[in-house]
Order: sequence, then structure tokens, then C-alpha cells
Amino acid sequence: MVAVLQLDSAGVAHRWISVQDAAIYGAKGLVLWEIGAPVVTLRGGRNAATGRLSTLDVAPVIALAGGAWCAQEFRTPAVERRLIFARDRYTCAYCAQRFAESQLTVDHIVPASRGGAYSYMNLLAACRACNARKGARSCEEARMLPIWAPYLPCRNEAFLLANRKVLADQYEYLAARLPKHSRLRLQ
Ligand SMILES: [Zn+2]
Repeated sequence: MVAVLQLDSAGVAHRWISVQDAAIYGAKGLVLWEIGAPVVTLRGGRNAATGRLSTLDVAPVIALAGGAWCAQEFRTPAVERRLIFARDRYTCAYCAQRFAESQLTVDHIVPASRGGAYSYMNLLAACRACNARKGARSCEEARMLPIWAPYLPCRNEAFLLANRKVLADQYEYLAARLPKHSRLRLQ
């Protein structure tokens, strides 16, 4: 399902909305500006005077008026395996090889049996073999040091990670605003 990236009036990513909702905002004249080639062109009614059908283009990125959205606090997304895999570029943190999502596991840096949290800061993508080899040991005990450190997804990363079908115009907008440490910049 294609979604539209909705920005606030300051250009800050606010949420993913449906094409239908974007069309309603467009029809009501609430779109401040838009970016990218139309995702879809919807047909409206026939103009009684001209006999022409009205159409409405829905862009992949739209900005709506409303300062209230800027103030809305950004919450780190819930921990999800696929978000960790995407953040870590489908690469095992121990052997540094890329894998299909189905071949990856989530490794607790501090093992769960030792109180390690199921959180972005304690989880890394690891292949089955490396995860099995590390077992319930710490990195030091297993002598397996990760190739990179975990981190919390920032706002624009979270938007990229939350949508499986990010369109080129949306990717470009969000990728241009990623922090330097983001592994998504390298994709
Ligand atoms: Zn591995």
C-alpha cells in the first residue's frame, strides 16, 4: 500500500497517511506545498459549466498547515525485528556479511539472561550461526566484538524504516535529513 509522507509547515516529517486522506486534504485546500511526481490522479465530478471532469493529483510528499504538529513529541518507534535489521543494513554485526531477512536473528549484546534489555541500544542484527556461537555469553566472554554500535533510530530514519514501500521522492526527502551516523545513508 503506497502511503503519502505528511510534513508539518516547517517541513518536519509528521506521519504516513493514506492516499485517500491526502486527497481529502488536497480537496480542502489544506496542502501548503508538495514534492514529487503524483502517486495517483483521482477523478472528481464533472464541472457543470465546462463539462470537464475535475481531477486531483496526490503527491508523495505533502506539507500541511498547522504549527501544533511541530510541537508533537517524537517517540522512538516500538522495537521491531525488521526495524533492527533495516537499521543494521541486513548485515550480521559479527561476521559482517549481508543476509536475507529470514536468515537474520536479533542478538542481545548483554544477554537477556543477564538482564539485557530488548531495546534498540542492546540489540543488533546477527546471522543464525553467529548468534548460536555467541549463545548467552557477553561479547567479551565470546570474544566476538560487534563491527558497529547499536543506536536509537532518529525521526527521519524511523519514517524510512516504518514504511516498506518508500517511494523515490520520499526516500530522497528523508535521506537528505539523516544524521551522519545513520547506516541508512549508505544504502
Ligand atoms: Zn554472522
